[in-house]
Amino acid sequence: MLSKVLSKESCAKCRFCCSFRRQSLWETPLFPIDVVQRLETGGISFQREQKENVGYGRMELEGNYKTNDPQEEAACLFLNPKTGCVLKEEDKPFDCKIWPLRIMKKKDGTFVIALTPTCPSINEKPLEEMKVLVESGLGEQIFQYAKENPFIVKEYRTDFPVLMEFDQSL
Ligand code: SF4
Ligand code: SF4
Repeated sequence: MLSKVLSKESCAKCRFCCSFRRQSLWETPLFPIDVVQRLETGGISFQREQKENVGYGRMELEGNYKTNDPQEEAACLFLNPKTGCVLKEEDKPFDCKIWPLRIMKKKDGTFVIALTPTCPSINEKPLEEMKVLVESGLGEQIFQYAKENPFIVKEYRTDFPVLMEFDQSL
């Protein structure tokens, strides 16, 4: 969904967003239940959770850390270090398709599309370019997905630049 601003070549050299520090486990991608059921038949186990009565799965990465260092990274269970993500397009989490964008909820209840500040490729782009991209339909698409899948909404963090605000609730 971000192919206009992210090149496959840069991502292949980076893969930053497919590994997770212990302290950043809140960032691991979340999977709808139908995808969880499909992937579980392949031997991957998920932690089942619920948000606003909608179930979803979180992959279990905790066992993959070797130390208690909060900075230690563990690779996503679906990352092949040589070839990238092994998931089929239909199984790839929406969280990954929209990264480094996030839909977030502020303390006052406002929903926003915000930019994760750690993607090196996007950080080279002017913020205005990302705003235009989001305002030209992508933001609305993310908002509509979040209506059906509220688990993708994260709590707002003040270091994430806001690209678009919504004046309605999910
Ligand atoms: S962090 Fe950014 S540049 Fe790196 S792989 Fe992810 S999307 Fe691509
Ligand atoms: S599911 Fe695929 S794209 Fe998403 S973090 Fe894992 S390897 Fe990366």
